[in-house]
Amino acid sequence: RGHVRFEGVRFGYDPEREILHGLDLDIPAGSTVAVVGPSGAGKSTLARLMYRFYDVDQGRITIDGQDIRDVQQGSLRAAIGIVPQDTVLFNDTIGYNIGYGREGASQAEIEGAAAGAAIAGFIERQPDGYAARVGERGLKLSGGEKQRVAIARTLLKNPPILILDEATSALDSRTEADILATLQAIERGRTTIVIAHRLSTVVHADQIVVLDGGVVAERGTHGELLRLG
Ligand code: ADP
Ligand code: ADP
Repeated sequence: RGHVRFEGVRFGYDPEREILHGLDLDIPAGSTVAVVGPSGAGKSTLARLMYRFYDVDQGRITIDGQDIRDVQQGSLRAAIGIVPQDTVLFNDTIGYNIGYGREGASQAEIEGAAAGAAIAGFIERQPDGYAARVGERGLKLSGGEKQRVAIARTLLKNPPILILDEATSALDSRTEADILATLQAIERGRTTIVIAHRLSTVVHADQIVVLDGGVVAERGTHGELLRLG
């Protein structure tokens, strides 16, 4: 599950100014695609359209062949997890922040998701790791650690499609690369869309799409794009 397609997608926030000019994307289920490009290219707009904060003006977006306008809102929100750039944590524990809004989840599931999936290698450089820090207050965390908590919270929802909407862009490139590498290592099989600024941190994506001015300027693997210059 989790095959995403954009077919001839046209969209503008305002009818006078089209932002996406007929976009085609094919993101196979379980693959990782990185969407890079200059600020204002329309990258975050893609994420907002997938979650139906807005609807396309022309064309369509499908998940597993189904137009997302025909999917119930609850199912769509369950299918997609979005991690935004600036996570605001509650001044409460890491565990609380990960479990917030996940009322169905037990404490064990929260700790399991965090420890097993997201936090292992995330809240790192601590001898006793996650267990010692699950009770630590979110406001004390670094920017990178906050984003790791946000990713863990989203992974707990276990969405077939994960979108990192510049979730790591504000971090230094080493931290960004580190988080993306950890995620890739634990997230085999989940369709993952990484919206990013730096091509250098998304080298391992199955497909890199360079968006510029609302059209796909280039697409390919990292190696292919380097050869294009
Ligand atoms: P990116 O993520 O690539 O930086 P965005 O998708 O955020 O780009 O924005 C694409 C274009 O849409 C930009 O020109 C931006 O100013 C415009 N835009 C973004 N959000 C809105 C909005 N809510 N209303 C009007 N214009 C917007
Ligand atoms: P969930 O409980 O599944 O995370 P939410 O309703 O809290 O569902 O939101 C889903 C994701 O969408 C969250 O990661 C949230 O940050 C993001 N989100 C919610 N509202 C907006 C918005 N207006 N613009 C951008 N992202 C949003």
